[in-house]
Amino acid sequence: MDDTLYHYLQHLCGATNVKRDEPLSKHTTWRVGGNAAYFVTVLDKNTLCRLISALVFLDQPYFILGLGANVLASDRGYHGVIIQLGFTEITHTDDFLYADAGATLGTVVGYARDHGLTGLEWATGIPATVGGATFMNCGAFGHSWGERVVLVDVLDRGVVKTLTANQLNFGYRHSVFMEQPYLILGVYLRLDQGDPAIINQAMTEVLAKRAGHPREPSAGSVFKRPRDGFYVGAEIEKLGLKGYRVGDALVSPAHANFIVNVGQATADDILRVLTHVQDTVAAATGVTLDPEIRLLGDFDAPVN
Ligand SMILES: Cc1cc2nc3c(=O)[nH]c(=O)nc-3n(C[C@H](O)[C@H](O)[C@H](O)COP(=O)(O)OP(=O)(O)OC[C@H]3O[C@@H](n4cnc5c(N)ncnc54)[C@H](O)[C@@H]3O)c2cc1C
Repeated sequence: MDDTLYHYLQHLCGATNVKRDEPLSKHTTWRVGGNAAYFVTVLDKNTLCRLISALVFLDQPYFILGLGANVLASDRGYHGVIIQLGFTEITHTDDFLYADAGATLGTVVGYARDHGLTGLEWATGIPATVGGATFMNCGAFGHSWGERVVLVDVLDRGVVKTLTANQLNFGYRHSVFMEQPYLILGVYLRLDQGDPAIINQAMTEVLAKRAGHPREPSAGSVFKRPRDGFYVGAEIEKLGLKGYRVGDALVSPAHANFIVNVGQATADDILRVLTHVQDTVAAATGVTLDPEIRLLGDFDAPVN
């Protein structure tokens, strides 16, 4: 099957868009992860629909990867097909903005500013694709992506559908996409008219607020806030865990809810730091922290 699948993927997606034994460490912000058996960039939605139908029919596992900014990829890699979306169109009419799932948040926020559309400034600096932002319902500074999303085009078991806001189940770092096997194709947002200069100023201020975040490879905050008033970073810091280290993975001295890779960390190192933090916080407070990150590939112990 190996060779047949490889040639089929090349035929469907274009030879230069298919890689074999591709290191996932090149495609995750933590810079860890073994090889993906196949790594495919899909340039248009029709090809994606055909590819998914074929993979389901051939019983081949697949995983959609955005910027890999919230993913811990196994050191053992992934034996199926990693799919990266290469369609990145952004358009708007009045205050209604459409973005393809493969577009980055940075481009969307910049596009909105350039066209005098306000409402996304808070998202400046979050590494994400539109697909990943929607799946995770990413957020910062009291805002979340879902608050502006009005429609989402999805692929649902071979059928293209458009979901409305009340079908998206957005919550704190939660969406319907964690419950159903929908693939996000594109997202429609309702924004407000604004002045590009004021929007730009707000974006600059957001970037300045983020300047203190750790600079080493990470996946942002590792754990979700278990309830209002429980500050995960402060709690971890209080327990003296800043700097706790396994191999080259450590609890960031700059922000205790970040685990950073300061060299050649493995996914296993990161997971061991994560588990130690989880256990220590649970023993001290009775609260089991729920990781925000998504696992890719096989791990010995489940974390969420
Ligand atoms: C330095 C740094 C700072 C960060 N700051 C923040 C922050 O302030 N707020 C915040 O919320 N997060 C933050 N994060 C985490 C991360 O940026 C977000 O979770 C982001 O939404 C991940 O997007 P992604 O495109 O990288 O998705 P990935 O990490 O690649 O994927 C995440 C999940 O989405 C799924 N997915 C992706 N695309 C699709 C699709 N088209 N259809 C279906 N499923 C899909 C994947 O399969 C996976 O399960 C930060 C991360 C880093 C590294």
